Parts: sequence; structure tokens; C-alpha cells
Amino acid sequence: MFESFIRLVREIYQTEGFVPLHEPRFYGNEKQYLLDVIDSTFVSSVGPYVTEFENKIAAFCGSKHAVATVNGTAALHIALLLAGVRPGDEIITQAVTFVATCNAVRYCGAEPVFIDVDRATLGMSPQALSSFLAEFVERRAEGVFNKSSGRRIAACLPMHVFGHPCDVSGLLDVCESYGIPLVEDAAEALGSRYRDRHCGTFGKMGVLSFNGNKIMTTGGGGMIITDDDELAGRAKHLTSTAKVPHAWRFEHDQLAYNYRMPNLNAALGLAQLEQMPLFIERKRELAQCYLGWANANGVDMVSEPVGAHANYWLNALILNNRPDREAFLRASNDRGVMTRPLWELMVELPMYKDCRHDALTNSYWLAERLVNVPSSVVCR
Ligand SMILES: *Cc1c(COP(=O)(O)O)cnc(C)c1O
Repeated sequence: MFESFIRLVREIYQTEGFVPLHEPRFYGNEKQYLLDVIDSTFVSSVGPYVTEFENKIAAFCGSKHAVATVNGTAALHIALLLAGVRPGDEIITQAVTFVATCNAVRYCGAEPVFIDVDRATLGMSPQALSSFLAEFVERRAEGVFNKSSGRRIAACLPMHVFGHPCDVSGLLDVCESYGIPLVEDAAEALGSRYRDRHCGTFGKMGVLSFNGNKIMTTGGGGMIITDDDELAGRAKHLTSTAKVPHAWRFEHDQLAYNYRMPNLNAALGLAQLEQMPLFIERKRELAQCYLGWANANGVDMVSEPVGAHANYWLNALILNNRPDREAFLRASNDRGVMTRPLWELMVELPMYKDCRHDALTNSYWLAERLVNVPSSVVCR
């Protein structure tokens, strides 16, 4: 089975050399736009590409606004602050995520609480969220509190894992019944849709990332998407040092951040965005290819549930027993085909090991079985 997998990957990528997990592709206008930026001298955080990139991302996602940031983590930080998160609050999130999700929570002085995920979507389980809230919530005049910790529950922050949409409608229903704001970590889900709406557009705000390993890249970059005019305005203000617009005066009206995306990165992003339809098509073909292999070899693979249209950013196999999984990781990596296990669960990391969590049954189940396999867009 391992041999046939390695052969398949080498055939797909047409190489006997090292096959990375994910590398970017620059097939379009990248060089042209970057040269244009350099010639213009507007390489930093002021320039026309930033606004154009924001407008095109908003149109692509079907959100009213998009605010570009230096990276996805910064976008998460600002989105949480704008959702009203204050020091000492709790934020409900999942243990199956990349560490940036939780780091952004801590930047706000808040504490993450980890809720289990569904095996099918890898995203936060609406049932698990509902059970947790039913058990622990105390409604007070100032908001919804966790009666076991005494902390205010300020937001719910699910993540669309590897570009697979979580059951975000189900989560939204639960959140709305408690009045808890939903913020989506859609960093991995550009181009993914759930019930015909783009991931990140269900909650108050959604966050995207354009890091080098994501489906498209700006080198480093992120975005906050929202339909709320006021939140969008405040996001732009907070990410650009709260500078009050004026022809020559330098006035700043609050403590803020230097999180604005530079024009140079936005130019790269614009060229990449033009290729998103191609990237998604190729990624979905690649997923079909892996799915065919998985079916023929009795291996499970994470695939989009009914109602979801995934970007298949990173393909994930489920190897049902532990020795097999370790042998698969060793065999593939030894032979120059990069594969990796699921991230360590957040509760296993030293800085988050004391955080509250539910039983995390599916999270642990997945952590023992999941393997990510090479998923770069295939060149042709
Ligand atoms: C990539 C990623 C982020 C943000 O990452 P940056 O590298 O800061 O752009 C946040 N959350 C998740 C789940 C991610 O995968």
C-alpha cells in the first residue's frame, strides 16, 4: 500500500525528487505586477494594489468588505478585538487547529476553551458546542458567562480545517441562541463554500490567510471579511495605527497596530487571485485522484460532506490504526515524499495545556489517524 502511494505521488508530480507538502505556483501576472509596484515606489502599506486586492477578495467571497492585513494571525487578533473580546474573557474554539488561532486569543488576554470536532468535517461540532453551553452557561445582564470559570464567553471561533467547511450553519444557530458572536477562522478555506456561501461569511467576521503554504499567497498576508460597515471601518483604522485621515497632520486617536498589508504583497495577491479558479479546479482533480487510490486501498480520506464545496487545500487520509500511520509517515518521508500527521492538539502544547476543554473524543481519534499528503497544485 505504501509503495503504491509513493508511486502515485511521483506520477502525479512527475518527479523522482523531493515532493513537498505544499508549494506555491506563480503562473500568471505575478512578475509584471511586482515590477509595476517597484517602478511606482509604493512598495509599502499605501498603494492602489491594496485597495484593489481588497475589493477583488470581497467580490470573490461575496462579502461586502475586506480589510487586508500583514498576515492571518494579525487579522484574527483584530477580528477578535472587534468582536468585543476583552482580557479575562473566554473564547470557544477547537483543539484541532493551527496554533495561530489560539495565539490570537491570548494576544487579546483571553482564554481559549476547546470543544470537540466532527470526524466528517474536522470542524467544531454543533452538538458538542450545544452540550457544552447547556452545561456551563449562565446568562447575566452583562452577557453569557461560564459558571465553572466565572469568565464571560465572548466569542466562538471555529476553523475550516484544510479547506473543508465545518457545519457553520449549525454552529451559527447555537451561537445565536446564546447571543455569542461567531468569528470564523477561514485561513485555510479561500474558495470553499458551504450551502453556496463562502466560508468566513457566516459569522460577524471571517479571517483569511495568504501565507506561502495556503491555496494562494501574498508572501505573507491576511484579510478580515465582513458585511458590517462599521466593523470594516474600525478594522482598517485599527490595522493602520489609527491614523486620522489628513493631508499632512499626523494624528492617531487610539492605541492601534501596524498590521496593514504592503502594496508589494497585495500585487502578488492580485496576480494569484486571478488564478484561483484554476487552482481550485486542479486541487479538486487531485483530490479525486487520491480518493480513487484511497478507495482502491481501503483507506479513508476526508472529503466534502453534502452541502459543502471544498477547496481541497490540503488532502488528508485517515489511517485506521496507529502502527500503520507511523509506518506510512516514515516510509513516505524517508523516500522524499513529504507527509505529516495532524497538528498536535492545542491542549497538548505547553502554553494551552491547562485550558478548559470537553472530552475531545473525535479530536484525539483524528490526532492518532490523520495524515496530510502532498497537495500543491499540479503543473501541466
Ligand atoms: C495559516 C493559518 C492562520 C494564519 O496564519 P498566518 O501565517 O499568520 O497568515 C490562522 N489559522 C489557521 C488555521 C491557519 O492555517
